[in-house]
Amino acid sequence: MLKINEIFFSIQGESTRAGLPTLFIRTSGCHLRCTYCDTTYAYHEGEKKNHNEIFKSIESYPTKFVCVTGGEPLLQPGIFSFLTELCNRGYDVSLETSGDISCKPVDSRVLKIIDIKTPDSGEFGKFHEDNLNIPGPTEYKFVICSEKDFTWSEDFCKKNHLERFTVLYSPSYLQVEPKWLAEKILHGKSYARLQLQLHKYIWNPNKRGV
Ligand code: SF4
Repeated sequence: MLKINEIFFSIQGESTRAGLPTLFIRTSGCHLRCTYCDTTYAYHEGEKKNHNEIFKSIESYPTKFVCVTGGEPLLQPGIFSFLTELCNRGYDVSLETSGDISCKPVDSRVLKIIDIKTPDSGEFGKFHEDNLNIPGPTEYKFVICSEKDFTWSEDFCKKNHLERFTVLYSPSYLQVEPKWLAEKILHGKSYARLQLQLHKYIWNPNKRGV
C-alpha cells in the first residue's frame, strides 16, 4: 500500500526531462519543511491505494514517462518495490527526492533527481552521504535562494566532483530572478544547467495537478 496525494498527467517541468508529457504520482508525507515548498498540501492529504489500483490509473494515460514525486516518496517502505514494478512493466521512471534518505535501495533503472538542500532552504544539512555514490542515472538539483546558496552550491559541486553528473540549478520561484541566476552561472563558469519550473510559467503557479 502507498499513501498517494495525487496522480496527474502534465508536462514535466524540471530535470533533463523537462518538456516531456509525463504521468506524475505524488506520494503523501514529508519530514522536511523547506522555505520554498510549493506542495505543502502533500504533507498530510492523501489516500491509501494498493499497487493494482495505482497501475489501473497509470495505464489509462498515454505515456511511458512516469515521475514519482512528493512529498518525500522514500518515506514509504512500499515505494521501492513499486518503483521496480514500474520499471519491469516498461515505464521510463524518474524519482524526485529530498536527498535526506538513501537512494541505494532504489532500482538502478530509475533516474534519481536528488535535491541538495542549500543554506537558505530551511533544511540545510539534511543530506544522506550515500546519495553521492549510487548506481544508475542520477541528477543533482539545487534550489538557489540567494547569493550565499549559489556560492555554497558551487563549492559543494567542486568538492564532490559532481561534474560527472547533470547538475541543475533552479531559482527559488519569486525569490531569485532567473536572469540573475543565468548570469551567475555564466560569469562563474559553472557547469550547472539552469532549470526553470516550466509548469509555473505555462499555468498559474498555484495551480495543482500540473
Ligand atoms: S523536501 Fe520537497 S516536499 Fe518536502 S518540504 Fe522540501 S520542497 Fe516540500
